[in-house]
Parts: sequence; structure tokens; C-alpha cells
Amino acid sequence: MMKTASTFCRLCTASCPTTIEFNEGLPVRVMGDRSTPLYGGYTCVKGRSLPKIHLNPDRLLFSLKKEADGRHHRIGTDQAITEIGNKLSRLLEEHGPRSIALYYGNSVVPYPVLSSVAASFMNAIGSPMSFSAATLDQPGLPIANALHGKWLGGRIASAEADAALIVGGNPVISKQYLSQNPARQLKDGVNAGMKLIVIDPRSTETARRAHIHLQIRPGEDVSVLAGLVRLLIADGAIDQAFLAENVDGFDQLARAVEPFNPQYVAARAGISADDLHEAARILGEARKAYIAGGTGISMTGHGNLCFYLLLCLQSIRGFWPRAGDMFTASAVLTAKVEPKAQPLAPWGAFTGASLRVRDLKQSVAGFPTSGLPEEILTPGEGRIRALICLGNPLAAWPDSALAHEAMSKLELLVIPNVEFSETARLAHYVLATKQILETPATTQLVEITKNLHHGYGWDVPYAQYTPALLDPPAESDLIEEWQLFYRVAREMGRPLQLFGVDGTPSQYGDGEPSSDEVIDLVLRGSGVPLDEVRRHPTGKIYRSAQQIVGPRDPDCRDRLNIADAFMLEELAGVAAESVGADDRDPYRFRLITRRNDAIVNSMHRRVPGIHKMRYNPAYMAPDDLDRLGLQPGSLISIRSRYGEVKAVLASDDTLRPGVVSISHGYGAAPEEDDDPFAVGTNVNRLLRMDVDHDPISGIPRMGAVAVAVAAA
Ligand code: SF4
Repeated sequence: MMKTASTFCRLCTASCPTTIEFNEGLPVRVMGDRSTPLYGGYTCVKGRSLPKIHLNPDRLLFSLKKEADGRHHRIGTDQAITEIGNKLSRLLEEHGPRSIALYYGNSVVPYPVLSSVAASFMNAIGSPMSFSAATLDQPGLPIANALHGKWLGGRIASAEADAALIVGGNPVISKQYLSQNPARQLKDGVNAGMKLIVIDPRSTETARRAHIHLQIRPGEDVSVLAGLVRLLIADGAIDQAFLAENVDGFDQLARAVEPFNPQYVAARAGISADDLHEAARILGEARKAYIAGGTGISMTGHGNLCFYLLLCLQSIRGFWPRAGDMFTASAVLTAKVEPKAQPLAPWGAFTGASLRVRDLKQSVAGFPTSGLPEEILTPGEGRIRALICLGNPLAAWPDSALAHEAMSKLELLVIPNVEFSETARLAHYVLATKQILETPATTQLVEITKNLHHGYGWDVPYAQYTPALLDPPAESDLIEEWQLFYRVAREMGRPLQLFGVDGTPSQYGDGEPSSDEVIDLVLRGSGVPLDEVRRHPTGKIYRSAQQIVGPRDPDCRDRLNIADAFMLEELAGVAAESVGADDRDPYRFRLITRRNDAIVNSMHRRVPGIHKMRYNPAYMAPDDLDRLGLQPGSLISIRSRYGEVKAVLASDDTLRPGVVSISHGYGAAPEEDDDPFAVGTNVNRLLRMDVDHDPISGIPRMGAVAVAVAAA
């Protein structure tokens, strides 16, 4: 019998409202819910693949333990929890809390209470060793905020902007910055007169809608941003009143960007000086501009500086909401804050805690995940011996070989998962978990994320709750991911303390709470009561929760800083670089990533039928193919200074010469050989964690990677 139910998609943070069609209790179709505001019924191919993920024939229904024969055998989940609790208790006693680490990867997105419960577990055992995918994604944004300071009135809403600058991002595919039906949002904005400027080496789906697309050489984001700041200053397009009241460092910034004149930037970045002038003119004339930096700028070695220059640009133009403007982060399922038209002074990039390796420190973005494999492999006091892993890092991290070696050396690797992933194959225990449709959820995690990264969530107060829509299969032995932490903590005699959004401790009785009860506990004190959100199962904008930016406190003395010494020193280093392509350099090509909306990066990669394409071609400009005498469809070798992969070549006439563009999320596991035509190419083999990394966040270079290309 056919049935439908309302829910929202949890395969990425866009949280598109959907209607799911079930036949005989099994999901068969996902449709966008047109009754919900903001999204217009939008879904993407990834979201519509949920039935395939749910019905994955290789889904885990029972937990697994790696036995002495090196193979995984079925184990009762309760027994696995007991054994994990015992091993962790022993490690805690013998080696202290730093010997136990947690990695927050992609698994936290579909199961929103998981991160709260996992954090409580780490508190309960006293371990600070939490790592996350954030330091391999866009750590530059929180670091730049910490060095520049924060505007307490939030950000300008994209719908109110008369100009937008998007650098190294492709919201139409990534959903970052324009999370709800991004193509329509862009179209509506442009039709309403918004001028879009995109800086990207590739002619992306977003760049194709731009008034000005600065198709730069990979890695030249810094010089172009510095050039834009210089032009705005030279043209007098600065908000003097805003600067006087709120900002320090204007003269130093003006001196620091002086070398980046339009001719120099144009030659260096491979763009037209006229286009650079036109982009500066648009930004100089804009009343309100929406400014966004994506993953691309984070991966090319100067992520902090790129985000910092974007903040500097915003501050010299005064592109910040003022008293009386709409606040774009009004609380629905988080705690209310009081938005004010005033700065919060910089608070510094580092927290004071360190790793033992490479002098890596904990920054405001977290412990550098790039240091985690070495923390596991480096002997001595404080070595990480056990890891609980929420995600599939062996498919996601750069330097797959090092990650594989480290995971293999752990005394205890535990992974809760719905599938037997690349990382699960190395785990001592794989806890079989419930699928998305078998668990309740809210959109709270996205709202929390928005408070850390303005590119997520909604500009208006929106939220949705979904109940569990299906029971787990009969005869299975499954838990929800949060239950792993709850039960292991109980096994270790360290019950968890959960906190509501307002920081008040939540009490629960002796028995294990249900998932819905945990949601209630962690949402206590939310801007809109959860019961009210539950009453609107198709999602709702809570107009009554809309906050307005208040006036500046009369005694506010905080100021933003646009001349952080570390950032300006890095900028001087960029200005001093020798530039210019050398045709004799074997590593003269630059490898850049390519978003693919058909895959969930590291998760569900092997679900039958999930990939639109079996493999990930390496795209190059037709001129490069001619010069190298290569044919589309042929096999090529891509060699970096650290590794080599084979890939299937494809021609892309929207690419500039000298660029190789390829998607992540494909290829074989580190211990296997790639078969480019069958499973694609694992780009992570070309990258290294421990060289060419950012000095603050530790993020290694993953974009604009120097590579050599030849016939395979
Ligand atoms: S953009 Fe796609 S994957 Fe993301 S929530 Fe929407 S439908 Fe799901």
C-alpha cells in the first residue's frame, strides 16, 4: 500500500523539506515539499537517492568485531558495548584521557543530537582530544573572525544585497551560502538587480550566472582580493564613518595592499585588469553586499588570509547590518542572543592547547585534524591509542596512506555506521546503526553551525522536526549513534551530563531516554519551544521569533582590526613571491577540486546506483589536450610531488589552460589499487598531511596542487 510522509532531507545541511513515498513500508520516492516556504519544492539528485541508501543491500544489520583472524564477525551490540567500555576504562586508567580521541565527520549531519551526546561523553572521560572535519574544510573562517573581530549585528541577508561576491565557492552545487534552492535564489537575486561577482578558476554553475567572473589561475585568490581592496581604497569607496567608529588598522592595510596594483594582479592571476576594475566598481557602488568565501579558498594554502581579506573588504565598505536591520541568525532551536550594531574585539586564533607533533596548536577551529594520524603514530606519553570515529576518514582525508597506517596502529578503533565503509574495515568494532528514516531529528544542528559559519542555515527564523518514519528491520540489532556514547559511558561508570541550549544541565532518570527525549533535553531553552516546532511537521518560518539588530551600547569600546600583524606578514609574503608559469616545470599544472552533487563525498559511496558516473574523470582544457597529444577518454597519469594516480581524461572548454579539475569521493581504499574506469581515482593519494600546511589550522594544501600530467 502506498503512503506518504513529510520529513526533511538530512544528507546535507541544506535540510530540504521533502515528502517521501512508501510502498509496503519501504521508501520508493523522494519529492520536494512545495508547501514549505523558502525551498519551492527543491531537492537535488543526492537527496532523491535516499531510497537507494535506505535499501542498500549491503546495509549493516548487526554489529561486527574484528577477531584474531583479522576478519570481522558478528557480535551482539550489548556485548560490543561492554567490551568497548572495558577497553576504554583500561586505557583511561593506564594512559590517561588524552589516549582516547573522537573524530566528528560526516555522520553528525544526519543525526543532529549525536554531536551533543558525543561531546558530553568526552567531557565525562575528561579527554580534550576531539577532532573534526572542520579543520580540513574551512578553518580559515573562524580563524579570520578571531583575528578581525566579530560584528554582533550578524551578516547582511543575501536577499537584501545589491551585490554579491563569491570566492572559491559554488553554492548552486554546494548549497553553502545559498542553502535553499540556490539556483532559484541566485536567479531571483540577479533578476531583482543584484550584481554577482564570482572569483573561481572554473566556470562553475554559479560563475555562469555572474556579471563578472574573474577566472583566476588557481591559488591567486589572495592577490585578487588584495587588488580589490586596493582599488576600493584608491577610488575612495570606503565608509569613513563606519571606519572611524568601529575599525582599527586602515593605514597599515592600505600600505600592505599597495603592491597589488591592477596590472600586477591581472598579470599574476591571468585575468583582465578591466574586469578587476569593474568588480571593484560594483562593490564600491553597492549599498549592501553579500560576501562569501567557499572551500576553494581554504585549500590553496592561504585560507585564513583569504577569509581575513574578505572581512577587511566588508569593514572598509561598512557592509554590516545596522540598528533596525533584520538579524539573520534569529534563534529558533538555539538560545537567543541580543544582536547589536557594534563590534566584538578580536580574541586571538589559538586556545593555548597543543598537539605533540609538528608544533601544531589548537586554534579556534579546533585541534588540527591533519595532526591526528601523527598523534596516533608518534610514540610516547600522550599518544592517542583509541579513536571513536563518526564518519569515513579513509575516504575523506588527504594522504590516504598515512591515515590508513595510523588507523591500523590504534589499539581500539570504534565506528558506528550503517555500512561497512573503508574505515570500518580497519575498526575493531563496527556498531550497526539505524538509518536516517528510522530516527527523529530537528534542524537544530544547522542553526548551531550557522552561529559558527554564516554560510549555513536560514536568514529567517526557520525550523523543522521530523519523527522517525520507519521501524528498523525485524531481527536486526541496531542502535542510534548517540546510544553508543550513552551506553559506553554507563558501562564505564561515567554517566553523561547533557545540557540544554541555554547551558542548563538537563536531568534524566535512571533508564535510558528515548531519542525524542534526548532531543527534548538538548533543546531545552530554545528560542521557540520544541513542542511548537513539532506542531508544524512540514517546516515553518517563525515570524514572531524574528529579531532586529539593536543599537550600539553607549559604553562599547571594542573595535575590529583590519591590520592583524600575522595576516599582513603573510600578505607581504604573497607579494614577494616570484610568479609566472614555467613551461619547462614538469609540475606546471594546478589540480583543483570539482563539486559533484551526485555523491555524499565520503559516505554511501558504494551504494549500488548512487553515482551518476561510475568514475571521476580528470577534466582539462582542449588546448592542453592538444599540446600534450592526449585524447578524451584515455588514461593519464597525474603526479604530484608526493604521489601518483591514474585517471580518465575528459575535455572541458570552460577550463583555463594549465588546470586539472577532478572530483573527490571516488577511487579505491588506500590498501587497494585504483581502477579508474571501474571505481574512479582517489585524489587523496596526491596529497600530504605533514607538508605545505597552514601554520594556524594545520590544513594541508588540497587545491592548486602542482602536478605533472602525461599519458599513462
Ligand atoms: S541539497 Fe540535496 S542532499 Fe542537501 S538537503 Fe537538499 S535534497 Fe538533501
